[in-house]
Amino acid sequence: MNQSSLAFVRAVFREYYAKARLQAPPAIETREFGFLQFGEKSIIRHLSFSNIEQVRKFAAENGPASISYSTAYYRYPDRQPMVAKEPYRFDLAFDIDADHIPTKCKRQHDFWFCQICDVRGPGVRKKCPVCHSEVVLAKFVCPECMNAAKEHVRNLIDILEGELGLRMQQVQISFSGRRGFHVRIFDEEVGGLTSEERREIVDYILLKEIEPRRHGFAFEQRGGKRVLASGPAVREGAISRRIVQVVKRYLEAVEKKALAMPSFLRPSGALLKEGEVVWENLGLRTYDEIRQLIECANEYAGVSLDPMVTCDDARLLRMP
Ligand SMILES: [Zn+2]
Ligand SMILES: [Zn+2]
Repeated sequence: MNQSSLAFVRAVFREYYAKARLQAPPAIETREFGFLQFGEKSIIRHLSFSNIEQVRKFAAENGPASISYSTAYYRYPDRQPMVAKEPYRFDLAFDIDADHIPTKCKRQHDFWFCQICDVRGPGVRKKCPVCHSEVVLAKFVCPECMNAAKEHVRNLIDILEGELGLRMQQVQISFSGRRGFHVRIFDEEVGGLTSEERREIVDYILLKEIEPRRHGFAFEQRGGKRVLASGPAVREGAISRRIVQVVKRYLEAVEKKALAMPSFLRPSGALLKEGEVVWENLGLRTYDEIRQLIECANEYAGVSLDPMVTCDDARLLRMP
């Protein structure tokens, strides 16, 4: 944007904030605020306000592109450095980004480009097939991507409410300003969690570090070959049920060729029969491959999260 168009959008946003009704976060006086100015990359941070009217006035004077505030509650929100702010509580916040969900539309609207060989191709990949150097990715978001992100938000809410028993009266879902959503829970119960405890919740949601043996996975020797003979049963609890659900949906997408066949699957027959997973046909050889399958399936059909946003104590997230 050139200087005159920058001045123009700032004026438009000043006018917008002059009349805007902003929603105050709980305990507004304990939050650090940040303002992103048009035409600038970094945000103005370390600001604090005692009520929402002050925030609105500041925005009406400056015409920011966005306003964000901390997930932390601080004793001294405007002090620097960060430790001097003395955080004492945190919202539980999640970031669901359509970018990370491997929807099949990505093959249509994303492409990669190798600057060394000057070749390009559709979809997402890490390395150039010719020279094996890192490629540049051009990523876009379409309604199908956003629908997948919404579905993941619903799945996340189901886990938080249904499995972790969190009361969802105080949940805020907002557009993240990038390509997805922020889910923020203002709740007494979760406010005191440490970043380590929040990391554990993230791992639980992402089905990370699953111990396959505890969920019914078992290998057998058949004709001199190690074969996965069984998988989880839905009745064995919330995690087993979730594993079965996401793996089913993932394998359906692989069968329909909406997703590429991953390297850890070596099918020796139908992946699904009458809607059920045929574990012995998947060709999985190790517990590590089982974990890989579960994590890929969860990323596609469960909840794809950026763990950083949940565990970073100093994070500012946009106001809705
Ligand atoms: Zn190349
Ligand atoms: Zn898309």
